[in-house]
Amino acid sequence: MNIFLPPPYNILYARRLHKTVRRLVPDSDVRFLLSESGSGKGAALVTAVAYRLAEQHRQIEETLEEFQLSKEQLLEVKKRMRIEMEAGLRKKTHQSAKVKMLPTFVRSTPDGSENGDFLALDLGGTNFRVLLVKIRSGKRRMVEMHNKIYAIPVDVMQGTGEELFDHIVHCISDFLDYMGIKGARLPMGFTFSFPCVQTSLDAGMLLTWTKGFKATDCEGEDVVLLLREGIKRREEFELDVVAVVNDTVGTMMTCAYEDPNCEIGLIVGTGSNACYMEETKNIEMVEGDKGRMCVNMEWGAFGDNGCLDEIRTVYDKAVDELSLNSGKQRYEKMISGMYLGEIVRNILIDFTKRGFLFRGHISEALKTRSIFETKFLSQIESDRLALLQVRVILQQLGLDGTCDDSIIVKQVCGAVSKRAAQLCGAGMAAVVDKIRENRGLDHLDITVGVDGTLYKLHPHFSKIMHQTVKDLAPKCDVTFLLSEDGSGKGAALITAVACRLREAEQS
Ligand code: ADP
Ligand code: MG
Repeated sequence: MNIFLPPPYNILYARRLHKTVRRLVPDSDVRFLLSESGSGKGAALVTAVAYRLAEQHRQIEETLEEFQLSKEQLLEVKKRMRIEMEAGLRKKTHQSAKVKMLPTFVRSTPDGSENGDFLALDLGGTNFRVLLVKIRSGKRRMVEMHNKIYAIPVDVMQGTGEELFDHIVHCISDFLDYMGIKGARLPMGFTFSFPCVQTSLDAGMLLTWTKGFKATDCEGEDVVLLLREGIKRREEFELDVVAVVNDTVGTMMTCAYEDPNCEIGLIVGTGSNACYMEETKNIEMVEGDKGRMCVNMEWGAFGDNGCLDEIRTVYDKAVDELSLNSGKQRYEKMISGMYLGEIVRNILIDFTKRGFLFRGHISEALKTRSIFETKFLSQIESDRLALLQVRVILQQLGLDGTCDDSIIVKQVCGAVSKRAAQLCGAGMAAVVDKIRENRGLDHLDITVGVDGTLYKLHPHFSKIMHQTVKDLAPKCDVTFLLSEDGSGKGAALITAVACRLREAEQS
């Protein structure tokens, strides 16, 4: 560093100063420069720098203000979610509705009498897994799980549907060998976390891939049929595929097994989605008007008709345009793990271009898509983390900055994740209030089963979301219950409930 010495200079004094400073900080390279008329020019410079910083500060605040939603705006989001929900439920509007409100044919949550051994398949999360789930009822009531994780190479994920399902069946085969249960013909639940139109518990037509999947010849097809055909092609083992399950529904069922008040499922992980128990009479796409059925909202697509455009920023639009499914899943892209880091990166690029960050230099790292993963938001926003550690995280990403840069980055992360949590809360407020009105209640006590790494690991997301639901739906007391492996255990529970009902019907 440089230290400027103002006149008049005393040589002896200066020498002593140099020596002392070097002894005090031997690791630093300090040079002493003589300045001319420091006090006059310096004061002017300090003032100019202060002005520039204040102006920068103002512009940063102004940009981040776009991410701060007022209570009125959040209530409007809640209201529009409710409108979209109604549109999805009505026959007349279902076709064009963006929030699809898909019937799942799950009509009951577990009652504890479920029993048996079940297979589950979990596709659509970060990991593809095959599971064996042993459920015991009565006094020895328990759930025991064994699972194995398999990789799905990107070329399979984005290859042909037949390749994808051959790969899946290959993994099942490996798992059955591994567990020594190949001859058993067990009932299976297939957790398939993509939007499907279901006509029964065991039929689901894929509407559209999301979250990075792109295999051909699958959209418009029944994925249970694709799985059964894959099993047939292999001619090696048989399975009884009983249910196709959305991960939100699995999450709800897993939590309902512990808490009968749980009638909502929520995911905030790679993507975001929710399901809840709706009155069958309100689901016009399904015959009958007795009882309730779980509806997979597919709420990630909220806003795809433009109804959220007023609150979407240029950064949201940039993230959307660079994604695999541009124009789709607009709400999800403002909330979930696959996108929050990208929103932050786009803001950082803009701030750098405007000279507020990284000395105006856009590094290769900053240009790299997905470099800023959402887990870094969690780290950077952690209250226990000192600013210096934020700087280290950024350096590890290849983003060399000053401490001032770190402050700004932390501010950006906070703004993006807070908005995500509030938007998610506004959606949830719409759901709980609808359930309350469905039941004609002044007050509703209800539990939401939640899964997803962003919800679980972000230091503030859950708290902000809970508070938002409280503020926007004051007539509901909402408990949030973390689900333990909703997509694995839940699929098995749905299969178990279905088998129980089937047996009851046959006897
Ligand atoms: P999925 O939703 O695919 O089933 P997860 O619930 O595990 O899987 O969510 C994975 C997502 O969570 C990733 O997209 C990632 O962005 C995000 N994530 C991973 N680690 C963290 C973390 N520490 N904090 C916040 N988000 C995280
Ligand atoms: Mg998951």
